[in-house]
Amino acid sequence: MTEDTAQLRAIANLQQLIRIPTMSRLDETETDWTQFQLFIDTLPQLYPLIHEHLQRELVGGYSLLYRWPGRSDAAPSVLMAHYDVVPATDEGWQHPPFSGERGEDAAGHPVIWGRGTLDDKGSLVVTLEAVEALLGEGFVPDNDIYLSFGHNEETAGDGAQAAVELLESRGISPAFVLDEGGAVVEGIFPGVDDPIAVIGVAEKGIMTLTMTVDQEGGHASTPPRLTATARLAKAIVALNSRPFKARFTATNLEMIRTLGAHARQPLRFAFTNLWLTRGLLLWLFRRLGDETSAIVRTTQAVTQLSGSQASNALAERAVATVNIRVAVGSSVADAVAHVRRAVNDPRVKLEAQHPSEPSPVSPTTGRAWQLLKASVEEIYPGTIVTPYVMLGASDSRHFTRISHNVYRFSPFEMSKEERGTLHAMNERIRVSTFLRGIEFYRRLIRGL
Ligand SMILES: [Zn+2]
Repeated sequence: MTEDTAQLRAIANLQQLIRIPTMSRLDETETDWTQFQLFIDTLPQLYPLIHEHLQRELVGGYSLLYRWPGRSDAAPSVLMAHYDVVPATDEGWQHPPFSGERGEDAAGHPVIWGRGTLDDKGSLVVTLEAVEALLGEGFVPDNDIYLSFGHNEETAGDGAQAAVELLESRGISPAFVLDEGGAVVEGIFPGVDDPIAVIGVAEKGIMTLTMTVDQEGGHASTPPRLTATARLAKAIVALNSRPFKARFTATNLEMIRTLGAHARQPLRFAFTNLWLTRGLLLWLFRRLGDETSAIVRTTQAVTQLSGSQASNALAERAVATVNIRVAVGSSVADAVAHVRRAVNDPRVKLEAQHPSEPSPVSPTTGRAWQLLKASVEEIYPGTIVTPYVMLGASDSRHFTRISHNVYRFSPFEMSKEERGTLHAMNERIRVSTFLRGIEFYRRLIRGL
């Protein structure tokens, strides 16, 4: 495959932006903001037409909000991405994470290596490339299009939140919002060999729940029958043996029906006759693996434990942190109530930190969905488009406050192995899928 001049320039732009290490640190005082400023300052050099025709505002610190004026003042659209990346060091990478080197993957596909190629500078660059190219052709959108690029999606996420607040204060309610999320994948559904575009129509809620036991301390040589740490351990075991109830949401069922219609027999029968097989399928989802189990229920995982500071002193306070992902259709309150019932010990105090409810579900009918579906089908022929519930959290959840049509999809093909490089080592993007991503956004924007 050889690329034309425009494609080579797009690839070079991606490489240049990958080379700016905009790493988000959990403790933002450790973030090197000069890299973020450099990233912001680099964009006008790479995309002169965008910076001539669109208005650009800095929000929430280093997040960017561009407005591309349309012909009418009807409801606008918002295309989202984030340009912060999770930290990476050279260790374990075949090509350094911030080199942006071009090379080949194990299968011989040309790729661009680097942290952020898939998550999420890739999406940001294909969006900018499409807009710049359309501007070059004199294209004017029917309605305003906003580009909202967050600077701390991987940590606080308040950059995107600030953009939402700004739009809300101006009385803007977008007709369509697109952020990262699903992708074009293969082999994720039993009996289906065709590529599948999974589009997130909702995402689970998220909360950190602390379980705390306070007790009188003392010397470890004369312990009480039940120490604070032992009481906490009992609570953890009790919680672990009482998983949340499994249940199909309407979106799960729509996904099963959509994909099931393309499955080989006899699976097709099972997936398309849910009135008969629903109970069996739910049982299968619970048991098939961690991912299918997470699809049908709220999940809980104890991630952190703390006790005494000294090896010979009893803990006066023992704390367990439980990371909970709340299923669509359930709530933070339901989840806390479940944990309280499972633990069943009033001396274990529960406290929800940063709770965020599951998102509303965006429709799979209507203009916004149809446009998204048609764009995928045109750019990735032979691909089955299906809605799904995202298991992780994205910046787009803030936009559900001001829009009913929030979708989560990156227009890239990702193999299972490639998906495994997200937030891990050897992240890279195939050159072919990167270029198709630009075509996808061109097609989508023309229809907005
Ligand atoms: Zn991301």
